[in-house]
Amino acid sequence: MNARRFLLFLLLASHLAGSLFAQPSRSKVLAFYSATAEPDHVQFAQDALKFLNERAVSEHFTFEATTKWEDLNDENLKTVQLVLWLNESPTNPEQRHAFERYMQLGGAWLGFHAAGYNDKDTNWPWFVDFLGGAVFHINSWPPLPARIIMDDRSHPVAAGIPDAFESPANEWYVWKPSPRLNKDVKVLATFDPANYPIGLKDVLTSGDLPVMWTNTKYKMLYMDMGHGDKIFTSAVQNRLIDNAINWLGNRASQSATPEASGIRISPRGIVLNPRTHKVYAVNTRRGTVTVLDGNEHFPASVKVGAEPEAIAVNEDTNRIYVANAGDGTVTVIDGRTDAPIAKVAVGDLPYVVAVNTANDKIYVARTFTNVMTVIDGKTNVASSLKPGEQADAIAVDPAANKIYLLSYESPNVKVIDGADSRISEVPAGTHLWAIAANPANKKIYATNAGSSNVAILGGESKGATLVHTGETPCALAIDSSTGRVYVANYTSNSVTVIDGTSDSVVATIDVGERPQGLAVDSANHKVYVANTHSGTTTVIDGTNNSIAATLSTGTWPFAIVVDSATHKAYVSSLGGDQLTVIDGTTLTISSPTPKQ
Ligand code: ZN
Repeated sequence: MNARRFLLFLLLASHLAGSLFAQPSRSKVLAFYSATAEPDHVQFAQDALKFLNERAVSEHFTFEATTKWEDLNDENLKTVQLVLWLNESPTNPEQRHAFERYMQLGGAWLGFHAAGYNDKDTNWPWFVDFLGGAVFHINSWPPLPARIIMDDRSHPVAAGIPDAFESPANEWYVWKPSPRLNKDVKVLATFDPANYPIGLKDVLTSGDLPVMWTNTKYKMLYMDMGHGDKIFTSAVQNRLIDNAINWLGNRASQSATPEASGIRISPRGIVLNPRTHKVYAVNTRRGTVTVLDGNEHFPASVKVGAEPEAIAVNEDTNRIYVANAGDGTVTVIDGRTDAPIAKVAVGDLPYVVAVNTANDKIYVARTFTNVMTVIDGKTNVASSLKPGEQADAIAVDPAANKIYLLSYESPNVKVIDGADSRISEVPAGTHLWAIAANPANKKIYATNAGSSNVAILGGESKGATLVHTGETPCALAIDSSTGRVYVANYTSNSVTVIDGTSDSVVATIDVGERPQGLAVDSANHKVYVANTHSGTTTVIDGTNNSIAATLSTGTWPFAIVVDSATHKAYVSSLGGDQLTVIDGTTLTISSPTPKQ
């Protein structure tokens, strides 16, 4: 239905509805949102207001928006044909009841993303039923683009939309139970399973994931899109939103599939001890760490805590630290015996672990808290440090005795002085994801996943120098002998090469699909790029920026580490916890079999 017909319909509907609605000359759309929600959800609401204000002019409807949820009352709603919730739902019982009455009397609702979020603390059973029984279960993280499949091309909402389209970066919610299991629900759009695995931290790996649906008992639509500043950058998706608004002026008119499942993993799930040439890789599902020696023998599979995610090594003390997200501990492994010698309680959901050899301290960042845990390597005693944000990545410069933290939610890189634990911060950009330090030139590199650039801190300038990359730069590594910086661009399927002296881009190299891991052998200048969706690793010859080889490296290669003394690269894969070894001289692979 086009906009004009929608308007006509609304006028007709208001006549038919008689006393139900007042009879405005133009249909009225009223949006509710919060300006104090999660910043990315506020950003979405602001973008939505801009989009809807423009549409109101071109499509001739009246649009109003408010952050006053108390306006969700019977009196107000009498004049409203369509209610939008952009980023939140009401918590007040009176507002909830007014909305229930509005919907039961034939009102229309369109909710985006966080507006549908509900969990055990929501305490609004009516709303869960209204959503088709969907309860928030897990999500992907950080926001990434994904291919969306339209379930029913004949549905009015699908008018002019291709069978599938690329939806801009979003945080994808998974629901349990899935609304598809409800016979009253009609799913209109679904996350393409070809997107799996998706996420760099919270990784969704399989299952059915409806992203747009209607509960046919109501005039309602829910869309999962609504996180961050990219939502309105797709003409196709904008059309889908237009269609949704138009269709909600009309009345909605209907197989069990596996539910989506996810894991949380740090790209730092594999580590090398350069002194012993041993590689340690976490097996999140099995709760173990695989140890591989330089001769590709598996001397041990070490039982650690539940759901190990990240790992770090202190090469000076030959100790390995494993962050166990499932039970809030760090397992300390003695590298001589490869046996666990301590288990340190660090608090819920440890996600990143990093070692500062300068002070023998281990820094543990945890999800959903701005308090870090610091373990003293000499005593294994844990203490708290409050950097004021949740660190998604940590880089250490032991020469400077400095620790650098970044957070997706914060524009600043936090700097911890290893000597006195004092914290300072440097502005760096938007939606920081990966970070690396080059001790040789004292520069810090941080990727801005939200703005397609790398922030370079330190060096000559005081502030950050921004260097343009491909879209969604998500991993980076430095050739310490040439100073060159390599950046993996998730959405562009490319690697950007930056000169370490001039801070300029010297090459952009196409690699495989969804590159998510990167490592450099500074001794022979080979660069290894894990193409997660291709199941391959691209080997770049850094001397001339050409592709030396593309090798099969298991299902969903994710994390890489390099031993520059032996020119071997170790690739860890998410699918089945495989480990593949690449010989950087012969460019051949081997997949050693673990000893059980
Ligand atoms: Zn979100």
